[in-house]
Amino acid sequence: MLKVNDNYKKLPGSYLFSTIGKKVGAYAKENPDKEIIRLGIGDVTQPIAGAIIEAMHQAVDEMGQAETFHGYAPDLGYEFLRNAIVEHDYKARGCDISADEIFVSDGAKSDSANIQELFAKDSRIAVCDPVYPVYVDSNVMAGRAGTYDEKTGMWSNLIYMPCVMENDFVPEFPGETPDVIYLCLPNNPTGTTIPKAKLQEWVDYANRNGALIIYDGAYEAYISREDVAHSIYECDGARTCAIELKSFSKNAGFTGVRLGYAVVPKELMFDNISLHHMWARRHGTKYNGAPYIIQRAGEAVYSPAGKAQLKEQVAYYMRNAKVIYEGLKEAGYTVFGGVDAPYIWLKTPGKMTSWEFFDFLLEKANVVGTPGAGFGPSGEGYFRLTAFGSYENTRAALARIQAL
Ligand SMILES: *Cc1c(COP(=O)(O)O)cnc(C)c1O
Repeated sequence: MLKVNDNYKKLPGSYLFSTIGKKVGAYAKENPDKEIIRLGIGDVTQPIAGAIIEAMHQAVDEMGQAETFHGYAPDLGYEFLRNAIVEHDYKARGCDISADEIFVSDGAKSDSANIQELFAKDSRIAVCDPVYPVYVDSNVMAGRAGTYDEKTGMWSNLIYMPCVMENDFVPEFPGETPDVIYLCLPNNPTGTTIPKAKLQEWVDYANRNGALIIYDGAYEAYISREDVAHSIYECDGARTCAIELKSFSKNAGFTGVRLGYAVVPKELMFDNISLHHMWARRHGTKYNGAPYIIQRAGEAVYSPAGKAQLKEQVAYYMRNAKVIYEGLKEAGYTVFGGVDAPYIWLKTPGKMTSWEFFDFLLEKANVVGTPGAGFGPSGEGYFRLTAFGSYENTRAALARIQAL
């Protein structure tokens, strides 16, 4: 008789967004006349930019001709894409990364979930709290998180780094030394980030302690402040302690197209083995690559036309972020984020829990957001709104919130 992976049984409740979906669905059914505005899920709404669509069309046509047909992609991804990534995301910022350190993938969610396969089962994992749930759940599935405490909302073997108002949402070095540190900057869900000097301190800390940083840069395109690093490799010594994960989802609207990449520098040696070597082995065994058509689309992200169009798209969302940020401030809320990220993180009013505020906003303003508690215990008392809606809907939502 089959025995299953017991670790799956430890996973609490249902996934955050399915709970939200059920609540919104029930409300919509009871109130069919109400027009609900969704500023909850972190999915984009703007269509794919013209320059990228054009490249995709061309690649589709190539697939229909024997001379230009492409089958399995090379293990690490096509060179045309990896070279474009190196040129624009690294060389242009003075980072020393080579094309054979780039592993093209179908996105940062799967990379951030899969990367833990490289670590021993007893590795100590440090996460920010609140946190993108994938880092935690993937380690739970692997049996690395210990047991879940319903009362505290915490896993016994994880090291939590609270990011709250009191520390400006900046993680502090943990009391116990971790083996792996997940950092997502600019951050989902808090929408905040740290200056490059502070990131350098994390790189130094990791090198000093023999720890690995998994650096999730999914929101890099939204950085507006000058003193914020666009890549962890802008910091000295990052090549010996950091893996960087990037995604085309948020900067180019590829959430339904699927493309990302991981940077695994060759200097990353732990336990006498190269992580680059291990990841190459894993990639080659378990993955057959992002589609040719999509990698051509990714290449177009870096073309002059693609870059110009995407700059506008990011600006469109950041105008929404400003509408939300300023609208909430005017309405008397305590608000964070929204400057280097498409997320606005607010303090729930009075003594409201984040789920109480969710219900309040849904019922009184017909606006859907995300309760902070869904991202970890330190998210309690906070609430996330996203700038990924349309400008019109965002304005309408804020007008409703201001009228409460
Ligand atoms: C959206 C998001 C990603 C991107 O995931 P994809 O799989 O590339 O779509 C990665 N990390 C965080 C924190 C995100 O919010």
